[in-house]
Amino acid sequence: MDVSELSSVPEWLPADLEDDGVTELYPPQAEAVERGVTGGTSVVASVPTASGKTLVAELAMLSSVARGGKALYIVPLRALASEKQREFERFEDHGLSVGVSTGNYESEERWLATCDVIVATSEKVDSLVRNGAPWIGELSCVVADEVHLVDDPSRGPTLEVTLAKLRRKNPDIQVVALSATIGNPEVLAEWLDAELVDSDWRPIDLRRGVHYGQAVHLEDGSQRELSVRGNQRQTAAIVSDTLAEGGSTLVFVNSRRNAEAAARRLADVVSEDLEDGERARLDDLAEEIRDVSDTETSDDLADAVRKGGAFHHAGLTGTHRSLVEDAFRDRDLKVICATPTLAAGVNTPSRRVVVRDWRRYDGSVGGMAPLSTLEVHQMCGRAGRPGLDPYGEALLLAKSHEELEELFDRYIWTEPEGVQSKLAAEPALRTHVLATVASGFADSRSGLLAFLERTLYSTQTAESGRLSRVADTVLEYLEANDFLTRDGDAIDATDLGHTVSRLYLDPMSAAEIVDGLERCENRPTAFGLYQLVCRTPDMYQLYLRSGEDETFTELAYERETEFLGRMPSEFEQEFEDWLSALKTAKLLEDWANELEEDRITDRYGIGPGDIRGKVDTAQWLLGAAERLASEVGLEWAPAIRESRRRVEDGVREELIDLTGVRGVGRKRAGPTSETPTNQSCSARSADARRPPRTSWRTPGEPTRR
Ligand code: ADP
Repeated sequence: MDVSELSSVPEWLPADLEDDGVTELYPPQAEAVERGVTGGTSVVASVPTASGKTLVAELAMLSSVARGGKALYIVPLRALASEKQREFERFEDHGLSVGVSTGNYESEERWLATCDVIVATSEKVDSLVRNGAPWIGELSCVVADEVHLVDDPSRGPTLEVTLAKLRRKNPDIQVVALSATIGNPEVLAEWLDAELVDSDWRPIDLRRGVHYGQAVHLEDGSQRELSVRGNQRQTAAIVSDTLAEGGSTLVFVNSRRNAEAAARRLADVVSEDLEDGERARLDDLAEEIRDVSDTETSDDLADAVRKGGAFHHAGLTGTHRSLVEDAFRDRDLKVICATPTLAAGVNTPSRRVVVRDWRRYDGSVGGMAPLSTLEVHQMCGRAGRPGLDPYGEALLLAKSHEELEELFDRYIWTEPEGVQSKLAAEPALRTHVLATVASGFADSRSGLLAFLERTLYSTQTAESGRLSRVADTVLEYLEANDFLTRDGDAIDATDLGHTVSRLYLDPMSAAEIVDGLERCENRPTAFGLYQLVCRTPDMYQLYLRSGEDETFTELAYERETEFLGRMPSEFEQEFEDWLSALKTAKLLEDWANELEEDRITDRYGIGPGDIRGKVDTAQWLLGAAERLASEVGLEWAPAIRESRRRVEDGVREELIDLTGVRGVGRKRAGPTSETPTNQSCSARSADARRPPRTSWRTPGEPTRR
């Protein structure tokens, strides 16, 4: 279909698309239009990576806005929100306003109410709904990007419940759900009452295969020589081979450490072939990267970049990542070694993709586990740059003949898995049941169950009793902790329950904080407060490395008087989790005391992006603790406020009065991928007010750490 044939879209759009080189719709896009996406029909598009899903969303949003509506684009990661905003900003030339919700409700609310297109993560949207943002009721179109993530145990339930709430609030809303190719897209379409576009069309040929020995074995049965000399590594041989053909390589590995080590080695491989112009541009880029933060990670990245390689993972700051992605798109960088977390969503096509590690550490099984077919297909989908490469090639690596066969069976001949709702896990429901009641979507047990009927979980399960059983357990917990009251079938949120829901806290975090503050007899110290918020399920705690148990146990005894609530004994099971919280709190204290960033990254074995992540989460939790203290009538709010200010800017106590200035003495880093969200997660610390934690773990549910 030619773009000039598009109807129901704004008049300016066809010419605008043509200016961008889009003259004809890709087949899945044309199919979405035929099914009514520009006329307000809901559509699920299950289409391979890089096959133009964004344009399907744009057609829906722009035609909806042209009819006087308002559109919301939900992204799975904060890092992607700014990328989408940049993409949509071109609509502003045509009088549309585009905004991103960062979650600062007071300052944003009025402005977002005037925007035509709003970009936000599902957690932000969930939070906006809880806080009663009036414009939510005006939405006419909602796009859910990467909707297959409903399968994700930690983030999926929020997306699922948020879509259910938006549809309940706006019964006529058009839902456009964009998914990678999955095994059961028809289930998503049934859940969302949507038309289905299910296609495996790609704009550029993808050849998948496995490298083994001295050859690439491709899926069409052909083989091509790709020799590995002497003690050369397979990845190095492939990167050299791609470079000889003028292409770039994206290498997926399974950990940050591996990404950094591989980038160092592969940068040495590509550096010999750099041209003078490239070298000069890479030198400048390396300086820019070094200036982003004073850490070893930043320096290591700069060193690799100077030689034409880079690593990409969630420990980098947002600024680092976008510098790397831009230089890769500009072809100055020849190789990126990435962990799959972010790279799956970021648009960095590459001539060749190498999936070097197909196993990854998985805490739920306590060891290495194979990646899903869906994940590997998404990584492979990054191969091939339309218009630049004749085809894309994605390779897995085998060390033995058996592995060669296994990889073909697992990832090449196999269709991707279906997605499965994770809503019935208790930690997820605990949060969402409270929010559903507090934000007025249900005022009785039967009303709550009726609401839950609208979720994907209900669509997928034949076992109807499970959801109501879990819901009842959760209701009991929420009542026992004073978040809800019940009277027969009727349910009502208490003032505390409303506050917890609006603060976007996991109710279990709120219970831990309230309990800690209530048990505190003297004005709490900043360190005591840090340890308290670090032991809530809303904080991703640092691991204890071997030998650290002793160090932190010593610290625990040294500062015993500062902790809020009971310190478990060394012989109790929860002691180790409590110590991890202590380690995380110590990091916050070091930051507040202005210990140099590189000493912190060294001491705790983390990247600069992680520090920002912990600091952001701590700020949010301390802000919440301050509100909770007032809500339950405790006098500790000023002490909590002070501890939050200290961690906000990394400032010592004696300097607090001097700092109207933000960020004194620190290079300010960009946003990180670790968003403060109330993800469902395993409960950790036991608490007198709640049932024993063993009853809170759903079998098979992965723990956060
Ligand atoms: P996906 O979201 O499916 O991964 P994108 O929407 O990011 O893929 O599209 C990948 C690339 O294809 C983008 O650079 C986009 O501009 C381009 N593109 C999309 N549709 C067309 C089209 N009909 N003709 C030419 N290029 C297109």
